[in-house]
Amino acid sequence: MQFHHHGYVSQEPRIVAAQGTGIDRPTDLPDETDVLIVGSGPAGMLLAAQMSQFPSVTTRIIEKRDGRLELGQADGIQPRSVETFQAFGFAERITSEAYNIGWMNFWNPDPANPDNIIRTTRTEDYGFKISEFPHLIVNQARVLDYFAEAAAFGPGRIVPDYGVEFLGLTVTDEGEYPVEVRVQAAAGERTIRAKYVVGCDGARSGVREAIGRKHVGAFSAHAWGVMDILVNTDFPDWRTKCAINAKAGNILHIPREGGYLSRVYVDLGEVAADDNHRVRQTPIEKVIERANEILRPYTLDVREVAWHSVYEVGHRVTDGFDDVSGASDRAPRVFLTGDACHTHSAKAGQGMNVSMQDGFNIGWKLGSVLTGRSPESLLATYTAERQPVAQQLIDFDREWSSLMARKPEEISDPQELANYYLGTAEFPSGFMTQYMSSMITGDAEHQQLAAGFPIGKRFKSSEVVRVCDGNVVHLGHHAKADGRWRVYAFADAGGSRVNEWASAAASLFARVTPADADPDAVIDAKIIYQEGFGELDVISAPELFRPQSGPLGLIDWEKVYTAAPNAWCDTDIFDERELSRDGVVVVVRPDQYVAAVLPLDASELDAFFQGVFLPA
Ligand SMILES: Cc1cc2nc3c(=O)[nH]c(=O)nc-3n(C[C@H](O)[C@H](O)[C@H](O)COP(=O)(O)OP(=O)(O)OC[C@H]3O[C@@H](n4cnc5c(N)ncnc54)[C@H](O)[C@@H]3O)c2cc1C
Repeated sequence: MQFHHHGYVSQEPRIVAAQGTGIDRPTDLPDETDVLIVGSGPAGMLLAAQMSQFPSVTTRIIEKRDGRLELGQADGIQPRSVETFQAFGFAERITSEAYNIGWMNFWNPDPANPDNIIRTTRTEDYGFKISEFPHLIVNQARVLDYFAEAAAFGPGRIVPDYGVEFLGLTVTDEGEYPVEVRVQAAAGERTIRAKYVVGCDGARSGVREAIGRKHVGAFSAHAWGVMDILVNTDFPDWRTKCAINAKAGNILHIPREGGYLSRVYVDLGEVAADDNHRVRQTPIEKVIERANEILRPYTLDVREVAWHSVYEVGHRVTDGFDDVSGASDRAPRVFLTGDACHTHSAKAGQGMNVSMQDGFNIGWKLGSVLTGRSPESLLATYTAERQPVAQQLIDFDREWSSLMARKPEEISDPQELANYYLGTAEFPSGFMTQYMSSMITGDAEHQQLAAGFPIGKRFKSSEVVRVCDGNVVHLGHHAKADGRWRVYAFADAGGSRVNEWASAAASLFARVTPADADPDAVIDAKIIYQEGFGELDVISAPELFRPQSGPLGLIDWEKVYTAAPNAWCDTDIFDERELSRDGVVVVVRPDQYVAAVLPLDASELDAFFQGVFLPA
């Protein structure tokens, strides 16, 4: 973690100096704002944390609740989300309080006595070894707390405006703030004008309704009771994740953070077509009774129910994720994220995770357009990229939840569920997303120069040695969610090509960086040499990789790395990621997705960035 950049700080280093709209930020909602976020769930809070990194942009986040969320619905945190938390600065802290899923156990009827269950398979969890980040269980409320901290500590100092309800909006196409939003605040109803509105207001989204978008799909006729409980039990796997498929029904059992609490999803069976959501009134006693039937011969003595709910599985995607796609050529003004535009069962533990990635995707794009770095056309890529991801999620979830809801007699191979669970690991881990070619994602012409960094997929980190201090660090972990693009040059210190490339790239970056900003304010360049640590020093690297920045004009020492394995680092990123030893440039977007793989030829980088950036 780097700090003292703006002068010595003696307190919490995560609190960076307020800048721009973060200085004397008004507590009352202003009449006009650049971005209005509606809803402070996972999508909205990540977005607020991201916008706080663009302090020249005014961002407000309204929430109808009176304060922070206390009890959450989601609790499954896939490795990609933990990777994202790392970029927002709280992965280590949340990991230390979370439950880490190491194993998944499968229970089925005992062939000798089918009324009882026995453990049939134990498998490593899908998150195991798929990345350096774990698969966690932690309350949604805690995730929101950490994002709230990141938003409040960032230079934009964003805090939610609680107790403010969205009522409706109109896109007027007039003036600088064309979206007119009606809200209900403590002092009464009022209108706020915004340049852009992002609906992060959940499954019953009012923003979705206001822009006339429709959820397409249906509720399935299957209901689940879900409870967070503190119990005493003789069930031996109470602290291990289990899929239990008994004669009496199914349970998905997930131990939770803290060592005692567990989340239990209990299958309540098929719901009649004319039920009209009456199943939601199922009393908790009935859910517990059902759980005991399924767990036979084991029993649950429930000492406390911390939270419970009944829900029906719905698989729905909205017909568009903004107010224009498919209907008009103008740039979108209103966007939908998270449950506002896709809903599905909780079985695959994806909802909060995918919602956060929606927020990550739209956040840097809004920041880039509103700071003049990129053209407005960038905003159309939000729907183009995220709608297919939502559809894939629905397809995956439909398959997984129907596999889990099968009766024992429908399962020929007890290993089948375990095989599916492991075989599809990349998807539920969050690493399957691959964006198609667009103005911000290049084509595959030079992909072979860096086969291990697939274009359109998230940048998969690897260990390297930092030259300035010899520490072994993860290359990708240095990249924070600060809205900057990253350019990694993988090269050979002996050759002059990289020096020529770096001086051409420096003038290219200067063209898109405001004259009064730090040289790396928009694009952060790093170099990874093939030579061993000890054969290199930072001072010999081109100036691009040791810029002077901040009010004190301090040299940044942490942009020069070496790949060669040695006593401290047993991996070579060139081998691990199949990088050309003749040199290659990997361009990474602010949301950590690989945008382009290019040769060490600055004209190629120039051509790619022409489509991404406007001249400063
Ligand atoms: C029982 C259950 C268990 C789940 N388990 C998991 C799980 O294990 N893993 C997982 O990833 N997902 C899970 N989910 C899904 C997960 O909770 C959601 O996908 C996730 O919360 C969606 O985030 P979001 O930010 O889109 O919306 P939400 O979290 O729904 O947040 C929307 C916010 O908008 C606010 N809001 C709504 N309307 C207005 C308005 N008019 N004005 C102002 N504010 C408004 C709401 O108060 C809320 O704070 C579960 C869901 C349920 C029901």
